[in-house]
Amino acid sequence: MLEIVRLYKWSLQGLFGFIPALAIAYVWFFSEPTMRLESHAIHEAAIVIAIMTSSFIAYITWRCYQHSREPFLRWLTLGFLGFTLVYLPHGLLTRTADHNIWLFLLYGPASRLTMMLCFVAGLVHYGRQQEVLSGREERRFWLLGVLLFLAIDLLVAIVAYSPVAGSLWLRLTLEGGALSLALLSSIMLLARRPTSPLMLIYLLSLVMFMQSSVAFMLAKPWDHQWWLAHAIFAAGFFLLSYGVAQAYLTTRSFVTVYSMEQVLDDLRQQTRQTETALHQLEQANRELQQLASTDFLTGLSNRRRFIGDAQRQILRSQHSGHPLALLALDIDHFKQINDRFGHGMGDQVLRRLAQSMNSQLRPGDLLGRMGGEEFLVLLPESDASQAKEIAERLRLAAEQDCQRVDGEQVEITLSVGIANAVTEGYTLEALMKTADDHLYQAKQAGRNRVIGEP
Ligand code: GH3
Ligand code: MG
Ligand code: MG
Repeated sequence: MLEIVRLYKWSLQGLFGFIPALAIAYVWFFSEPTMRLESHAIHEAAIVIAIMTSSFIAYITWRCYQHSREPFLRWLTLGFLGFTLVYLPHGLLTRTADHNIWLFLLYGPASRLTMMLCFVAGLVHYGRQQEVLSGREERRFWLLGVLLFLAIDLLVAIVAYSPVAGSLWLRLTLEGGALSLALLSSIMLLARRPTSPLMLIYLLSLVMFMQSSVAFMLAKPWDHQWWLAHAIFAAGFFLLSYGVAQAYLTTRSFVTVYSMEQVLDDLRQQTRQTETALHQLEQANRELQQLASTDFLTGLSNRRRFIGDAQRQILRSQHSGHPLALLALDIDHFKQINDRFGHGMGDQVLRRLAQSMNSQLRPGDLLGRMGGEEFLVLLPESDASQAKEIAERLRLAAEQDCQRVDGEQVEITLSVGIANAVTEGYTLEALMKTADDHLYQAKQAGRNRVIGEP
């Protein structure tokens, strides 16, 4: 189905491009050959519009070239410039049509031929790498171009006053030359299998130029076919200007303006990539957060996390008016364990103790490692006697669970200090200070014991 729609789209573009041929045939077969519209004013007005458009679009194309440095755009600019400079006398000399019709007429095909020559040169350069011309080289290029176009103007004037001016073959050579070059350009373009919409627009305007040349060859000055030829050329020219304006407003390049399908495909792929990256980032963030809040050795909450959780719990307890207790626990003479069994065994003991304490606590209790061999336990909804009971339980469990570690008799004991929250408005800092003081007293009193409020 996709292929059929694509084919349909292509044929529509082709049909659209050849609509002028219908008009040419119609005028050729059905219009009265003697009917003429010899209006100098209309012709001058049309040329003024053409010159204004072509000089403006030459400038826009030049700006695109300055940005993208595509050699193709340099030649396209030159083509528009050439058209402007060679077509201008065709307008200026409209009023001379009465005494030297060739001086007036020959600039038309000459300008189209000049433009098409530059366009062919452009297509030869199409798709080539960005170029680096020095300012001098570039100035020389434009200067040479302008001089060449002025020389063409002069040459046309000389030819117009020469005996060959009226010969049919001259007009056919000029117009036929423009037609052949437009055809050659179209073939070159098709051979490159244009995918960018700009190149399709370009192709369409070349098709218009070809048909306008055909119309000019069939026309006599001022007759209907002649005016139609102008109109078809204008259609091609406006279309191409539209393409250049589009390029200017997007990438300022002809090569990198892609088809809508390509752009959408790219967008879809990029969105998918972004989503995946975002997902990975979220995952990494979660892992990082976990790492930043967990004690690496024991897997317990670290100091930062414990303090955060404890503060939230304290707020809840103060709100509900339930009692709360904080235990500070420290392994007795832990340095000796390290000294006797090595640091690795010390680590094992810390892990084992963490497991032991965890197994003694209720789900709502908070346990954290503050550093070294010091731990804190927050007991919500526990009054002084309950806290003391839990503290004793922890002390005894540690003694039992950590008796033998990795086949070694380590025999550790714990000292515990308790702080009870009785009045309202207490802070975690105050509780920690009290628990620490009591822990110090437990150490002083000979270790392996629990001390709370007297
Ligand atoms: P006290 O009864 O007075 O508390 O004596 P202590 O030896 O337990 O106390 P001290 O504060 O003098 O020594 C604590 C030791 O804990 C010192 C240090 O080598 C050890 N330690 C701290 N962190 C770790 C750890 O992560 N792993 C191991 N294996 N040892 C640690
Ligand atoms: Mg200690
Ligand atoms: Mg210590």
